[in-house]
Amino acid sequence: MAEVKVLIQGYARGEEDSESASSTTTLIKESGLNIIVDPGMNRELLLESLKKENLSQKDINYVILTHYHLDHSLLAGIFENARVMDNEDIYSFDGKIKRHDRKVPGTDIKIIKTPGHDLFHCSVLVKTKEFGQVAIVSDVFWWSDEEEQKTDNESLMNHEDPYVKNKEELMKSRKKVLEIADYIIPGHGKMFKVKR
Ligand SMILES: [Zn+2]
Repeated sequence: MAEVKVLIQGYARGEEDSESASSTTTLIKESGLNIIVDPGMNRELLLESLKKENLSQKDINYVILTHYHLDHSLLAGIFENARVMDNEDIYSFDGKIKRHDRKVPGTDIKIIKTPGHDLFHCSVLVKTKEFGQVAIVSDVFWWSDEEEQKTDNESLMNHEDPYVKNKEELMKSRKKVLEIADYIIPGHGKMFKVKR
């Protein structure tokens, strides 16, 4: 079974003349592999949080990008031994691109398509002992720092995403992840338990 740890809780806040944001970054350990979901865009915080886990950039085997927005993906290239996965493919630093079979190779970690916030958006499903089925859903659910994070199912379904690309698809994706997950890790905001 896998272990899941939120390395960085995603945040998003407006400042005087700019924005300050970085996605949630999650570490998964399974079958001797270290996998990062969404490295985000805060380099210092990312390197610090890896150090706390006794890991260096070299120790990361896979980076999964839930979508291409730069607050989630900017740091994808800093792990020299990693391969980078998106909703469909695996990219390596020798310029090769290969389809994946909706799993991280050599593991039971699943990658499912969850479009809506972005058309190429995916989520990551991990079975753990501690939390049961964990869904790392990125911006299927996200909150700015100013918003209250309400996690009853109705509030979750109706929560406004100002950047949504396809609302109908987003609603389907939300429903899907709420049905399968015991715990959800959002793109910006705190991990939460799904209420049944
Ligand atoms: Zn985001």
